Amino acid sequence: MDAFWLVEQRAALQRARMAGRFPPALLIQAAAGMGGDLLAQYAAQLALCRADRPACGQCRDCQRVLAGQHPDLYQVGLLDESKQLRVEQIRELTAELVLSSHGGGAAVAILQPADMTEAAANALLKTLEEPRPGASLVLVTAAPSNLPATIISRCMRLRVAPPARAATLEWLRHQRDADWEAVLDVLGNAPLRALQADPAALTKLRRECSAVLADAEAGRLDVAGVAAQWARGEDLELRLACVENWVTGRIDALMRARASVAEPRTIAHLPAASAPMNIAALIRFHDSVRELARLAAKPINKGIAIEQLLWQLARGGAAALQV
Ligand SMILES: [Zn+2]
Repeated sequence: MDAFWLVEQRAALQRARMAGRFPPALLIQAAAGMGGDLLAQYAAQLALCRADRPACGQCRDCQRVLAGQHPDLYQVGLLDESKQLRVEQIRELTAELVLSSHGGGAAVAILQPADMTEAAANALLKTLEEPRPGASLVLVTAAPSNLPATIISRCMRLRVAPPARAATLEWLRHQRDADWEAVLDVLGNAPLRALQADPAALTKLRRECSAVLADAEAGRLDVAGVAAQWARGEDLELRLACVENWVTGRIDALMRARASVAEPRTIAHLPAASAPMNIAALIRFHDSVRELARLAAKPINKGIAIEQLLWQLARGGAAALQV
C-alpha cells in the first residue's frame, strides 16, 4: 500500500538526509487521512537508518521504527481527554532527549498532533533554540497556524496536498472494490481516511441528506425536527459535507445550463434537480454551510444553527418558485 501522494515529500527528505542537511525540526502539514503519520515515520527511518542509502526499510533500525519500537524514537500524542499537548509532556521529552544524547547517536521525536498549550509551545521553543546534536523533532499538524510563528520559523516545512481525484479513485480501487466515488464526495480526496470509511454507510448518509434537502426546498420538511436530530448525531461533520457537495452539484448544474442556453435540446434534458433556487441564493447557502462546518467543532447551539441553515434553503426555494 504505497502512499503515492507522498512521493515528492519523501524525496525531499531523502535528499536532505543524503546531503547531510536532515532538519533538526520538521513541520508536516497534513489533514486527517492524508498520511502525515506515514511521512513522520519515514522521516524517523531516514534519521535512524544507518544504511548507505537510507531509509533502506530492511535494517534493524528501519524495522524497529516501522514497528514503533525503536529505542531512540519518541512519540508524543494527546493524553486522555486533552485536546492539546501539555507542557509536562514537552519537558519530559526534552529530558529524555538530553539523556539519550549519552549514546551520541540520532534520536527522533514525533509530536502528533502538534497542537499544544502556550506553555508547551514555550517549552518546545527552548528545545528548538538549543537543539541537541543528532536529535530531530517532527511536528505533524493539520493547522500550523495554531503554532507560534517562532516555532514555525525554525522548522523545515512539508505540506501534504490532497492528490487528484482520479488518482485517488484508482488507488482506492486497487485496495478493494467499493463505491469510492460516493466516499470521496463526502470525505474529499483524503485517501487513507476514505480507506477507513464504511462506503455503504456513507452512501446511505448521502442519500438521506439529499432527501432532506429536497424536502426543505419543496417546503415540506420538519425543519426543527431534523435540525434537532442532526445536532444530536455524531456525524454532523459528514452530513454538512454531504450538504456542501449537494449544493456544489446544484451550482455546477445551473452554470452548465446557463452556458448551454442557446441549445434548447440540452435544456430539455437537464436533470429536474437544477431548479428552482437561483445561483446567487445557492452560493449564499454554500457559504452558510461552510461557515457552519467551521463552527461545528466549537461550543455553539448546533440545533439553532442547523435550523437557520435549512430555513435558508426552504425560503430560497419558495422565493425562487414565486418569481
Ligand atoms: Zn534502514
